Amino acid sequence: MTDYVFNPPVPPTVAVAGETARFPVRRVFCVGRNYAAHAREMGKDPDREPPFFFTKPADAVVDSGVTVPYPPETSNFHYEIELIVAIGREAFDISREAALDLVYGYGVGIDLTRRDLQFEARDKGRPWDWGKAFDQSAPIAPLHRVRDGQHPAKGRIWLAVNGAVKQDADLTELIWPVPDIISILSRSMVLKPGDLIMTGTPAGVGAIVRGDKVTGGIDGLGEIAITIG
Ligand code: MN
Repeated sequence: MTDYVFNPPVPPTVAVAGETARFPVRRVFCVGRNYAAHAREMGKDPDREPPFFFTKPADAVVDSGVTVPYPPETSNFHYEIELIVAIGREAFDISREAALDLVYGYGVGIDLTRRDLQFEARDKGRPWDWGKAFDQSAPIAPLHRVRDGQHPAKGRIWLAVNGAVKQDADLTELIWPVPDIISILSRSMVLKPGDLIMTGTPAGVGAIVRGDKVTGGIDGLGEIAITIG
């Protein structure tokens, strides 16, 4: 048994709907520009360039219902509602056809973003980490386990700020659907149980400030709610 110089941290986890056991998080992958209208609002051409990825630390994950502190070093703090894919099996270089076999479940999450720092990094050719990978930047609602081979390929995805709907789209608008994302990601590294994938956000992103109530949902996967503190 390994002796540690201090107690190692408890692994970050996500709640699972209808279960007391929680999903242990290993890594968080995020897909950039996966809805055409959002790519355009970011000033980019959405024609099927290969998907690209960035990451957040596993302990950026927090539960729905929390108050997320307004993060430091930004004055342009954004919401991005996203479909979350939770990986439950290990695989490398898996085909598009077999990719969904790896999925434990799905959920609703918000890719919180320091947009000013992200754009500065983008424009200077630097990593996106400071814009994306800060503390409590990945609120995720309880996961819904895959039942009877049912995977969400369509359905409304939406987000509201203080009750006003800001993002309203359908999962059919994903440029790269879930099987493609998993297959492509698995060519670069071994996917393992506990990995989460944030699949990108539709158009309508915008700034939030202290005191805002942010809600969102995906048909069949429940809702998420956070307050900005
Ligand atoms: Mn995103």
